[in-house]
Amino acid sequence: MNHLLAALVFLVMPAAALAQSPTEFEDWNRYAVGTSATLEMVSEAQGRNVSTIDVLTLKKKETDKITLSSEAVTEGTDKESSERIVRRETKRGECKSCKKVHKEPTTKDKGKEKLKVGSKEFEATILDITTYVCDEKESMTYRTWLSKEVPGGLLKMEATSEGVKVTVTLKSFELK
Ligand SMILES: [Zn+2]
Repeated sequence: MNHLLAALVFLVMPAAALAQSPTEFEDWNRYAVGTSATLEMVSEAQGRNVSTIDVLTLKKKETDKITLSSEAVTEGTDKESSERIVRRETKRGECKSCKKVHKEPTTKDKGKEKLKVGSKEFEATILDITTYVCDEKESMTYRTWLSKEVPGGLLKMEATSEGVKVTVTLKSFELK
């Protein structure tokens, strides 16, 4: 992998962490262990694209958290296996650097749009979500397309950060 691609993948990581529904816990919790969702993450910068395919599988359900396994393959790299914990919404703790509790993310309703996953069509709710860092400064705004009919709740996400555009789309899923 060349340096530009390596840099791109690095920049994409914070944006990729946002690739989730605001009600992600409930959006996994209504399905059984073994349910999976395959997401494609494409980052574009300086006319280049890098694609990552991430297969999320529901491994364990507990009252306050859900454990997902992630098998991610980025072009030109080896498969990376990891675990992701999705917590039931709890109160935010104070920030380690400013010692305050950061402002909650705000959402703006942007209407509905029909999106396809394979041959099945879904009516997505479009939300623009703005997150905040220290001193109530906006960290970033990203757009999500959400549905209660897919595991994890996310059909699509678009974010632009530091000149890199990241698009996440749900490619397929399997319900258990
Ligand atoms: Zn802070």
